[in-house]
Amino acid sequence: MILPGATLGLLGGGQLGRMFTVAARTLGYRVTVVDPDPHAPAAEFATRHLATAYTDAAALDELARTCAAVTTEFENAPAAALDALAHRTVVRPGGASVAVAQDRRREKEFFSANRFPVGAHAFIESMADIDAAMKRVPLPAILKTARFGYDGKGQARIHNRAALEAAFRQWKEVPCVLEEMLELELEISVVLARGGDGAIAVFPVAENSHARGILDVAIAPARIPAALAAEATSLATRIAQGLDYEGVLAVEMFVVKGRLLMNEIAPRPHNSGHYTIDACRTSQFEQQVRVLCGLPLGDPSQHTPAVMLNLLGDIWGGGEPDWEAVLAHPGAHLHLYGKREARPGRKMGHVTVCEEPAARALEVALRIRDALGIGTQDESTALAAGVQGR
Ligand code: ADP
Ligand code: MG
Repeated sequence: MILPGATLGLLGGGQLGRMFTVAARTLGYRVTVVDPDPHAPAAEFATRHLATAYTDAAALDELARTCAAVTTEFENAPAAALDALAHRTVVRPGGASVAVAQDRRREKEFFSANRFPVGAHAFIESMADIDAAMKRVPLPAILKTARFGYDGKGQARIHNRAALEAAFRQWKEVPCVLEEMLELELEISVVLARGGDGAIAVFPVAENSHARGILDVAIAPARIPAALAAEATSLATRIAQGLDYEGVLAVEMFVVKGRLLMNEIAPRPHNSGHYTIDACRTSQFEQQVRVLCGLPLGDPSQHTPAVMLNLLGDIWGGGEPDWEAVLAHPGAHLHLYGKREARPGRKMGHVTVCEEPAARALEVALRIRDALGIGTQDESTALAAGVQGR
């Protein structure tokens, strides 16, 4: 066990790194963050910030010498850097499971090999693969780059063969996955922590609504039948076990015709799990610290129904948003990430409304959404009615 007082290393200092750092510092650890951005969100709370490239040999050497354990906040941390560190200190999650999560092809192959349900899909690595892909995957479809996509980036909707060829060519023929466009009833996610001893703590299932490819609202617990929630929990648990995963893992799933299909996994805390900070006995970030340090897992149970709203840069269009409209609600918890520049689509913060009963949490959240000028009235109406698939 790595006990409080030790120094932990973090590759990447974005908002996930910031919330990890807060949890680690609260528990009494020191944190060294590597992030080239001098204003990285995590740096404000870190004990030490190395503002340099993730591949900087001197920085990696310092992490290896001074940190009892190292983790990363994003799946695209250079594998070579993680491998080099793993020879000299504890690195969690391990490179092998990160390699699966950062590549949609490997992810799909893992799901299929282990009989986890997935929609129709095909891999495209050269123009020669397009014929076979068109036969396997009905149109309309979505073409996704196998790597480096996030928040809907690296995705194109495909309605015919010409569009498929054009998109693949435009992306310089990097490896891609073509997926059938599914009729989503609902999107849900399961966040869990798995320790080195195989112990697992699963957070309640969240129901996720996206707008323009980015998570907009997460409702926890999800408004789904108990049997479906139990199945989602069981699938996520088996995925973590199948990967022999150590750390916090998020599994995104689709509900299609009442059945669950796997979408993707993230080897880290997840945007849809931010509600755990205010609504669960242990947050996903504290769990991340606990697993990294080999501590027993905390209690993941939820004490209050929660609705989380993402705050994107769009709402800074007319200057600083009206925080008083958020702070006026005693059940609303404001989290701002300290980013200097607000750009459209950039995640600047989130609000979690914790209220009893769940319907009240949603009502307050939608009122805040409206006051801050987030999204459209149609989206709010759909959220209130519990219909999605937008
Ligand atoms: P990322 O989250 O990395 O941007 P995802 O694969 O999760 O990529 O896709 C983003 C969103 O696009 C999903 O949450 C979902 O709303 C939609 N989407 C992705 N794949 C499909 C699909 N096969 N059918 C319908 N909608 C999809
Ligand atoms: Mg996703």
